[in-house]
Amino acid sequence: MITLDDMSKVSECSVTGCAYNQSDACHAGAVTIAGGSGHAGCATFIPLTVKGGFEAAAAAVGACQHLECAHNTDLECAAPAIQVGLRGAANADCLTYAES
Ligand code: SF4
Repeated sequence: MITLDDMSKVSECSVTGCAYNQSDACHAGAVTIAGGSGHAGCATFIPLTVKGGFEAAAAAVGACQHLECAHNTDLECAAPAIQVGLRGAANADCLTYAES
């Protein structure tokens, strides 16, 4: 059985405008990475003024839709950890994305 401990973690997120971000860490239980071609966007990003998530959470990557990423296996992330940050002006993206 797969547990949260087995899943890739969000080791850092610099998108401070996201409701789940506190001190450059993601406090969602898990994130989904989605977005179109060449844009591995964090679909969990939500720009609210309130803060949410779990206080002690180390967010996992719950799902990733980028089959073409070198770290992707069966629509799950196999990297030990990912970093999320702004790519361009407004996109909260997985910066660990690697073309295979
Ligand atoms: S590293 Fe690749 S497989 Fe892992 S979350 Fe980012 S885009 Fe998805």
